[in-house]
Amino acid sequence: MRTIIEPFRIKTVEPIRMTGREERRAILARADYNLFALQSDDVLIDLLTDSGTGAMSSNQWSGIMRGDESYAGSPSFARFETAVKGITGFEYVIPTHQGRAAERILFATLCKSGDTVPNNTHFDTTRANVEFTGARALDLVIPEGRQPQTQHPFKGNMDIGALEALIDQQGREKIPLIMLTVTNNSGGGQPVSMENIRAVSQLARSRDIPFYLDACRFAENAYFIKLREDGYGHKSAREIAQEMFSYADGCTMSAKKDGLANIGGFLCANDPALVQQQKELLILTEGFTTYGGLAGRDLEAIAVGLDEVLHEDYLNYRLASTRYLGEHIASAGVPIVQPPGGHAIYIDAQAMLPHIPPAQFPGQALVCELYLAGGIRSVEIGSVMFGRRDPDTGEETPADMELVRLALPRRVYTQSHIDYVVEVIQDVQQHKDDLQGLAITYQTPYLRHFTAKFAQLDSV
Ligand SMILES: *Cc1c(COP(=O)(O)O)cnc(C)c1O
Repeated sequence: MRTIIEPFRIKTVEPIRMTGREERRAILARADYNLFALQSDDVLIDLLTDSGTGAMSSNQWSGIMRGDESYAGSPSFARFETAVKGITGFEYVIPTHQGRAAERILFATLCKSGDTVPNNTHFDTTRANVEFTGARALDLVIPEGRQPQTQHPFKGNMDIGALEALIDQQGREKIPLIMLTVTNNSGGGQPVSMENIRAVSQLARSRDIPFYLDACRFAENAYFIKLREDGYGHKSAREIAQEMFSYADGCTMSAKKDGLANIGGFLCANDPALVQQQKELLILTEGFTTYGGLAGRDLEAIAVGLDEVLHEDYLNYRLASTRYLGEHIASAGVPIVQPPGGHAIYIDAQAMLPHIPPAQFPGQALVCELYLAGGIRSVEIGSVMFGRRDPDTGEETPADMELVRLALPRRVYTQSHIDYVVEVIQDVQQHKDDLQGLAITYQTPYLRHFTAKFAQLDSV
């Protein structure tokens, strides 16, 4: 059969509250044109993030009931640890309440002021946590990864030549670790090839630099390798994931992504001395080493989720449903990051709205319009998120790309929901020349996109 169906049935439903355009216009103004400030029941289709928004399976809900809430030594932790080790092969597993807590602990124990941490593309919290230690977060994705329209099977790959040049220029002691984000979220959800993971690993080992995976979407990355890289078509997603982790010295993970859970994360490593320091920090701010800020039931949901996420019927459906959205809006003439990524479709807002300059945030203008037109919540991944305002001159340094991300929660929306999204985007495409830019009226120094306030330019 050609039709790829959702490989699950629906057991519980959540009603969607319908809204009209005029109601949404008022809601948008009250939220200061920042969709992070919306109430979620004012949203029809919520594509803000795929993080923690997935639907859990009946097996995960059974795990929730099985959860053992003992403070120390819970069997739920043992099941969680076994599941993580079975995939990653790392010696030590530290549970955390989500991915950024793993990042904070990792960078706090490895980085200092003056250091540089290279990555294909740092995720926003990763960048912020690196910079918070005084170190510099540097993105070294291959040039194709910065060109939205260029086709390449592994646009998340690290530029190995640039990485080697950086190490030669800075010296090994200024580079406390090398990271690789699989898939490359901020770069369009694009995968990294096994060949590239191996090459980064070899370079890191030859220079004695620790190599970590930001593993949030390891299963989607593994399935892309299966589909696209020679020699992997006959291997299982689990075997491919195991090989990916085998080249690294540790990982950070948000279980809210490919853990198929609503909360959770972990940090893994092989170095016992480092792990000792990390556990001390964990106890200080997250919790004891067998729960790390999570309830026992959360550990159970993650343990089951890590198994389910590697089921190939699931991964096949997952990548097909993302591709479905991407191909339909692209064929209507909407410029998207090509090829479609794993968890999200990224609209190239700069190419779609060339009349709005980066300093007027074309991505944010599109995000607001998609909400107004159809109640769809998406997120800007451009100069609001990654641009910088000079505190003295007020001048804006734009991001490399002005993207709008439509992230697909796992196992949540059906094909007719997505058909509706396609229709709304096609409508917006018809009158795109009428869209106007925005100005920021309030912002914070770190992660400004979460709390910034905007005004429409015609009203300033
Ligand atoms: C979500 C994410 C993180 C942070 O994880 P949280 O659970 O949101 O704290 C880090 N890196 C990448 C690539 C992510 O997608």
